[in-house]
Amino acid sequence: MGRRKKRKRDENEVADRPTDSSSESEDEEVGKYQPYKVPNYNRKYPENSNLSEYIVFLTHNKEDQHFTDKDRLALSQGLRKHGVSGVMHLKSINRYKVGITFDVSNNANVFLQNKKFLDELSLNASIPAISTEVTGVLSSVPLSLSNKKIFSLIGSSRNIIQVRRFMRRVKNDMGAVSYQPTQTVAVTFASTVLPEYVYLDHWRHEVNLYIAPVKQCLRCMRYGHIAKFCKNAEVCSICTENHSYRSCQTKNDDAKCANCNGNHVAISASCPIKQKKIEENKVKSRSVQYSDLFNENSFPSLSSKTIETQINNLTKSDIFLKLLTETILCVINNNSTKKQPINTGTVKENLISTLSKTLLKK
Ligand SMILES: [Zn+2]
Ligand SMILES: [Zn+2]
Ligand SMILES: [Zn+2]
Repeated sequence: MGRRKKRKRDENEVADRPTDSSSESEDEEVGKYQPYKVPNYNRKYPENSNLSEYIVFLTHNKEDQHFTDKDRLALSQGLRKHGVSGVMHLKSINRYKVGITFDVSNNANVFLQNKKFLDELSLNASIPAISTEVTGVLSSVPLSLSNKKIFSLIGSSRNIIQVRRFMRRVKNDMGAVSYQPTQTVAVTFASTVLPEYVYLDHWRHEVNLYIAPVKQCLRCMRYGHIAKFCKNAEVCSICTENHSYRSCQTKNDDAKCANCNGNHVAISASCPIKQKKIEENKVKSRSVQYSDLFNENSFPSLSSKTIETQINNLTKSDIFLKLLTETILCVINNNSTKKQPINTGTVKENLISTLSKTLLKK
């Protein structure tokens, strides 16, 4: 059953449309590939984190409800009334989301548990995954393994909170849509550092950093939100007029992109604007990894630890070792080909170029 067709980059198609579980697939099959989440897992800031601020997002329990001026007022009054401590400031994130910034991790965590406050205002509190979790991708995972099975095979040796197999959207001749499993599986770890590999029943699988797909609205074709939350007029992905692409008379060859005016449909992977968005997501994902390398937890402070412990900790970091190796290779290479001398100046130069190259790579 080896499905070797390349997975389409355009995952938002899948993400935007609800899975039609009533289609031909049996109930058991649907459950097998349903994302598996560790029960009762609540995201929280690690006790020892060293961020400069701790943000908590608030949305209405009804997720498509806007934050009105009245809601904002009720929020600041509620914070005062309940004596919520550690609030540095409030800010609007978008029409549906407000952020509360706390001074220390514990205050943010306590607030997340403040049922009384949240229920009173019918709000839902969460913290961004980016500060507490990292997602990796495994390939060649046998189709027979359910998400739950994969979770139990990797075991508690790694702090895993979610397993999700990628599903491919398939349309049959009758136009019915179904979802087929692929051999690619996303695994989310409750950590900010990605392990280099994991074991699945003695099989060693390399773990690659997951790059979130670009969010494009299939209603208005703009980026950054999905159709479910779209308040804009419908825009045709083929001709940019205000109608559905289904009723469009324009031929694909004459397509005009609603975002760049180029000669392609608005969801095309060849759109330069889409490519730019994809690059931005890559850089964002990678900088999370690097920010962890440079935070104070990775570089324990001099006063509390000996130099030996610091060096030991540093060499445990896969990212650091890769970076160092690449830099050494560059320095040697430039020495022999460009006759560049080996000194602190050239090491620094190569370190900077390796770091920025790695950040922008792939
Ligand atoms: Zn939209
Ligand atoms: Zn059209
Ligand atoms: Zn375009």
